[in-house]
Amino acid sequence: MPIPKIPLPMSDSMTDNLSDKWGRRIEYLRVSLTDRCNLRCVYCMPEEGVPYENLDNVLSFDEIERVVRVLATAGLRKVRLTGGEPLVRKNVPELAARLNATPGVREVTLTTNGILLPRYAADLRRAGVSRVNISMDTLKPERFAEIARRPEYARAHAGIASAIAHGFDPIKLNCVLMRGVNDDEINDFARLTVGQPLHVRFLEYMPIGMVTPPAWRARYVSNEEVLTRLTEEWGELEPIESDAASTSRTFRIAGALGTVGVINPISHRFCDGCNRLRLTANGRLVPCLSDNYEYDLMTPLRAGCTDADILHHVADALTHKPEQSDFEGRLGKGGSLRIMAQIGG
Ligand code: SAM
Ligand code: SF4
Repeated sequence: MPIPKIPLPMSDSMTDNLSDKWGRRIEYLRVSLTDRCNLRCVYCMPEEGVPYENLDNVLSFDEIERVVRVLATAGLRKVRLTGGEPLVRKNVPELAARLNATPGVREVTLTTNGILLPRYAADLRRAGVSRVNISMDTLKPERFAEIARRPEYARAHAGIASAIAHGFDPIKLNCVLMRGVNDDEINDFARLTVGQPLHVRFLEYMPIGMVTPPAWRARYVSNEEVLTRLTEEWGELEPIESDAASTSRTFRIAGALGTVGVINPISHRFCDGCNRLRLTANGRLVPCLSDNYEYDLMTPLRAGCTDADILHHVADALTHKPEQSDFEGRLGKGGSLRIMAQIGG
């Protein structure tokens, strides 16, 4: 039986390094650049979309850069740009270059649906972005149109080709599996990794947004099932070492150039090494994806708070970071108040 951890009391010294009350150091900020998107994936957004945030209420690049600069003085090392679809916002490579030039920041990465990558890949590489995660849930064009509710398979595919052509490394393909929708493609995705240096990661479907418990349960495919199906097809998989904060377990099919991974927020919680914090497009800090709690950083930022105040606000927000995620618990209490595109996936 796991030994329960005792929360540490918060003290001023904790604002010097970004730690939560469970002793986890926060080194990774996922910044949502926009709640807008050019797709309407069934697991993420309602068909009609959501009312977009007024642009006046969206953090400017200067504000994002400031928050990152301040947090980098306290241990932030990695920034991921996400959304909504981050590339629908103008001048993302410019922001990426600014964040990459921030002292202390070691890496700026991107999660995208790939559609606008052919347009921006070269500029992103010049801005120092070398790793990219591209969401791709099916290798069948008609099915793509059903899942993403837009007939954009060819453009998403061109986005992956463009990432390869521009030398992003690694290129991770994120695939959210849903039973009866795309779970028959597990081994087709795995096959992509055999001859190409692509890293496919199967994400467990999370009950975020407007999903009812029965609808979510009917679609949910556990990563254990995925691993069983992969092993049946490819034989024993070679486990690949990953760091403690990694949310995925990674494997290689014998002789493959790429890897397959499983990300399991539901079946295997990865909270012990959690080193991340989210910042939404409208300036809210979200300490945990499975929790509705969010902390308004926008108001103090726009009221002229000092850099030290920013650190105190973040430390305050982190006192609300739970020890463990509890997606099912929240689902039982009415579900999430926001959809994934609003939180920043
Ligand atoms: N638009 C970009 C994209 O699709 O990659 C970035 C934002 S999207 C919200 C980030 C990631 O969250 C994507 O990989 C997407 O598949 C994943 N995602 C969204 N809703 C999800 C859900 N309910 N369960 C699991 N993953 C989800
Ligand atoms: Fe848009 Fe990404 Fe959500 Fe799909 S998963 S609707 S691409 S934000």
